[in-house]
Parts: sequence; structure tokens; C-alpha cells
Amino acid sequence: MNRNKSAIVCGAGGFIGGHLVNRLKSEGYWVRGVDIKANEYNNNNSDDFVLGDLRDFNICKSLFDREIDEVYQLAADMGGAGYLFTGENDAAVMHNSALINLNMLEVSRLNNVKKIFYSSSACVYPEYNQMDPDNPKCSEDTVYPAAPDSEYGWEKLFSERLYLTYQKNCNISVKVGRFHNIFGPQGTWDGGKEKVPAAVCRKVAMAENGGEIEIWGDGKQTRSFLFIDECVEAVRRLMNSDFSGPVNIGSEEMLPINDLVKMVAEIAGKEITIKHITGPIGVRGRNSDNKLIMQKLDWEPSVPLRVGISKTYKWIEEQVLATKEKVSATEEMTL
Ligand code: NAD
Repeated sequence: MNRNKSAIVCGAGGFIGGHLVNRLKSEGYWVRGVDIKANEYNNNNSDDFVLGDLRDFNICKSLFDREIDEVYQLAADMGGAGYLFTGENDAAVMHNSALINLNMLEVSRLNNVKKIFYSSSACVYPEYNQMDPDNPKCSEDTVYPAAPDSEYGWEKLFSERLYLTYQKNCNISVKVGRFHNIFGPQGTWDGGKEKVPAAVCRKVAMAENGGEIEIWGDGKQTRSFLFIDECVEAVRRLMNSDFSGPVNIGSEEMLPINDLVKMVAEIAGKEITIKHITGPIGVRGRNSDNKLIMQKLDWEPSVPLRVGISKTYKWIEEQVLATKEKVSATEEMTL
């Protein structure tokens, strides 16, 4: 029984952290969430929520006023391609995320935390293995010689090593998952930090039937996307296993972005044409390789992309409609 276990979820105000809090609560954990911002979309079901900046070592220390069994470190300076791949935010991304990781790992050691989960990313994989959109190579053992295509990826790789070094030297059990494009309801869907599936759902939801939406690049770049429930399931399975990782947490259902748009348009019941424009696109191809997770956890994600996209589209369409209603109510008031 997990009834007496306690956990801290760093990044509980964010997308995956919010879902993870709810999952841990459903398993009977006592959960303390922490984030620099409140969770906008997900009802925060944590027993305690600390609004605090994890770059501040004293804030990190203050989280341990009671015994904590497990820490889930998901806080990061994070966004979609428009935030991570333009180069403009690189110093902030590296400084902020590295500081959070250094702090949380050290306070976890000082407080005898039994296990800590670290959310790494598919962005650690070398660019040279992701040039062919039909055949990207992202098995865990291909990460070296290292050549991530973004500073975000370099920070993730550094922090993976940091966590594994603490495991080696400091008697703390570490679990590292490399997330591949996680999506689902209650995630960022506008404002510039949203990722591809949410951006496509929003653009299609806002477009008229027969309308046009803009996509960065030629749309032939390929990706796979993992539905949030499966991501959280994988994290829990990894935490409960003897395996440390790093291990891919992603889907193997890869498709070109143009086909993702087609899928969303079909779900929406709209005819949509794509206008290809210049913009940051990242690597040409990326897919999860699930051999290792299958081998170590005897499990791999299996929910078809279409199922997850349908749920996500429905939620984003509701947000778009609610925002439109708010705007027209404000306009009426000012008339
Ligand atoms: P998110 O942006 O929704 O969540 C990250 C949270 O960290 C945010 O709520 C943010 O406010 C918080 N945070 C940032 N700086 C902080 C600080 N100084 N102090 C306290 N909190 C701070 O992102 P997400 O999609 O939920 O991702 C969670 C983790 O998974 C991140 O580490 C991310 O890098 C990793 N990841 C996510 C994906 C994905 O597809 N979503 C893919 C690869 C890796």
C-alpha cells in the first residue's frame, strides 16, 4: 500500500506535473506541489502547494519540513520550438533549469530522499542521427558522441549526468525518463510556449471550415507524440522498478507534421489547407525507440495517437470558444 508515502512534485503548476500530482493522489500519496506559478488548467489536488522559485536554495530547503519519500523533478524553463529553438532564450533556459536541478538534487540528498525522478528529454539525442525524416535514430545508447541541436538539450544531458553522479556517489536512487513530445488536455495551448499538437489543435479550432493555417517549415519533418496518461503511467512504472534509466518515454507512432494537421482537421470535421512559412523546426525526424522500456519495464505506451488527439482537440476547442465568449462580452461592455 502507498497510503503513507509522501512526494514532492516540482513543476506541479505545469502540464505534466499537474497530471502527476493527481495520479499520485489517486494512489494514496501525500503530495506537496511546488511551482513558481499556480496551475492554470488542472485542478490542483496536492495536499499542499508551495508557490516558490526553485532557483532559490532556501525555498528548496523549506520543502522538507516533514519526511519526504520521493521527489519528482519536472520544473524547467520550458516551451515549444518557438521558445526553445530560436536561440533567444538559451541563457535563461540553461541557467534556470540547471540551477533548479542542482538545488533539488542537493536538498534531496541532505534530507535522505529515497528516490528522485528526473524528467529529461528526447532533445538530448544528436542532431546527426535525426537528419532523415523517415529513419531517425533515438535509442538510448545513441546519445553519445553528444550533439544535441539545442541548448535546452545540452542542459538536459548535463543534468542527466548530474543525477546519475549523485546516485553513484551519494546513495540516492535516481530514475531518468526521456520524454518525447507529451501532449494532452490541460497543457499550454497558446501564448508562444505551446508545443506542436496544442498549436495545431488551436489553429484548426480557430479556423473556419475551408480555411488555412500556418505551419513552420515544409511540414515533412516527422515526430511522434505521447498522450499524457501514458507518460504518467511510465513515470510511475519507472519509479517502482529497479531500473534507473535513462529510458525513452514516448510513442513509436511517427508521422509528418502535415499528416498531424490532416488528422486534427478530420477530427474537427473541417477542410483545412496548410500555408508553409519560415520558422524554427528543430530536427528533420524524431521518434521514440521503445525497445529498452519494453525490455526493462515489460511495458510500452499503446494508446493510438488519434485517440489522444481527439481528447486534446475537444479540450482546446472548449478553451478557444471560452476565450471568444470572454472577448465578445468585454467588447459589449465597452460599447
Ligand atoms: P511546463 O512548462 O508545463 O512545466 C514546467 C513547470 O516548471 C512550469 O509550471 C514552470 O512554472 C515551472 N518552473 C519553471 N521555472 C521554475 C522555477 N524557477 N521554480 C519553480 N517552478 C518553475 O512543462 P511540461 O510539459 O509539464 O514539462 C515538464 C518537464 O518535462 C520539464 O522538465 C520538461 O523539460 C520535460 N519535458 C517535457 C516534454 C513535453 O513534451 N512536454 C518533453 C521533454 C521533456
